[in-house]
Amino acid sequence: MAKIKKKIKTIKVDADKCNGCRACEVICSAFHATPKYSSVNPARSRIQVITHRLKDIWLPVFAGEYTPAECMGRETYVIDGKEYEECGFCRAACPARDRFIEPDSGLPLRCDMCEDDPPQEKPLCVQVCLNDVLIFEEREEEVEEEENLDVLEVGLKSLVDKYGFDKLVDTFARMSQKG
Ligand code: SF4
Repeated sequence: MAKIKKKIKTIKVDADKCNGCRACEVICSAFHATPKYSSVNPARSRIQVITHRLKDIWLPVFAGEYTPAECMGRETYVIDGKEYEECGFCRAACPARDRFIEPDSGLPLRCDMCEDDPPQEKPLCVQVCLNDVLIFEEREEEVEEEENLDVLEVGLKSLVDKYGFDKLVDTFARMSQKG
């Protein structure tokens, strides 16, 4: 496979500084609403803050790749005396839970670093976080060229995995007759 230079963008999370204000969820869901900024719904946010007030846990997690299968291992992590739930650090949209699944369509959500139109210099969650929890980093790396599925393909693939190809084709056929 050919190697290409690619800009790698990451957001480092300093969870100890997070106070659970959830401004990051608000701005993310508003920026990705259709039309833009027309609604706020943290369930549609691509960053979600896992909170356990009694355990003093505030953990911002970004939506990563969609996976059609549940993983086998479920671990509990204890860090600095705080116990984090199984799946707590996992970024995947997967069938085992509702996190990072768009509530109306059931499509997986994925952080796009706010590169959508108009592209932002830094992801908006980084810009609104007043506690410097989210640290944006950009570097150039040589990586293997990979097949890049666009958002529509990823969404359709997840629907095929969930409902099966034939059911989707039937649904599209019925919709086109109505339309
Ligand atoms: Fe935590 Fe910052 Fe998000 Fe507020 S905006 S919940 S402090 S990461």
